[in-house]
Amino acid sequence: MYIGKREYQKENGYTFLTDLEGRVTNGCTWMCVHCNAHHNVEPGSGKLRGYCTRCDGFVCPGCADACVPLEQMLENLEAGMTLDQAMRYRPVVVPFTGVKLPKG
Ligand SMILES: [Zn+2]
Ligand SMILES: [Zn+2]
Repeated sequence: MYIGKREYQKENGYTFLTDLEGRVTNGCTWMCVHCNAHHNVEPGSGKLRGYCTRCDGFVCPGCADACVPLEQMLENLEAGMTLDQAMRYRPVVVPFTGVKLPKG
């Protein structure tokens, strides 16, 4: 799938739209790796997309400020945050590796 000048990505979905006069348009969609929303692929539209290197995928402009995957965003909403807060909060996880705890 053609997203920009250089990037290609596998399609995530397919649209099949019929307007009121019966004309059918179809095309491919790409999915935001943060909010999981689908967007129509518009080759040559000039629209800017974000790219999250942590999630290794394209993100829509509203999701480009912070890396908050959908599961984390839903947990944030369940914790009582507003949508704006939930789209920006991701807890810091510090892995402890190579630490030996004393026995007993
Ligand atoms: Zn998004
Ligand atoms: Zn991300």
